Amino acid sequence: MALKVLIVEDEANIAELLQLYLEKEGFETSIAPDGGKAIELFHSFAPDLIMLDIMLPVMDGWAVCRKIRETSQVPIIMLTAKGETSDKVNGLENGADDYITKPFEMKEVLARIHAVLRRYGTVEQKEKKLTFDKLVINMDSYELLVDGKRVDTPPKEMELLYHLASTPNRVFTRNQLLDEVWGFDYFGDSRTVDVHVKRLREKLEGVSDKWSLKTVWGVGYKFELLEG
Ligand code: CA
Repeated sequence: MALKVLIVEDEANIAELLQLYLEKEGFETSIAPDGGKAIELFHSFAPDLIMLDIMLPVMDGWAVCRKIRETSQVPIIMLTAKGETSDKVNGLENGADDYITKPFEMKEVLARIHAVLRRYGTVEQKEKKLTFDKLVINMDSYELLVDGKRVDTPPKEMELLYHLASTPNRVFTRNQLLDEVWGFDYFGDSRTVDVHVKRLREKLEGVSDKWSLKTVWGVGYKFELLEG
């Protein structure tokens, strides 16, 4: 089943270009040329993600974002014009998940979409729950079960562990983790990742010999699945 992306953009060239690329990548898309239509399509098209331009007829992108956030946590990526740094802050305050500065490269757009969807656990992972030996990471209920017992774990630690464990044995750099789990790299530095991993280790150390949260020196971290 294809994931649906709503493209809200009044410049037809940009909207169609996005549509072309996203459909080629296997997404189903719909275009809203103004803010009013965006709200309409948000309800009738039920997108999994919204690409939202700021300067729009009828209702601007911020208003659309706020309106949608009244009822939905659907991922929203804002399309901002170059140099509008205050837009980043504005976007966050209004509940956007990420932003892309125009003009953009399609490669960047796809990377951002995949990163945001991964953060939401949307891509190909319908049930947001991972199960390993003596470990259950449940992102639907934000519960961590270690050896059958519920362990209180802050949301960011849950998200970090889920992100690492979603792709076992893959090494993530600190910057990748900041970008993909925290979303905006200027909110923290790589020590943020280290601190969260350290706290996770305190909860997970020695629980099982089938997996472990490993440091890959000079690179980053991985959730390692061991043989046997
Ligand atoms: Ca525009």
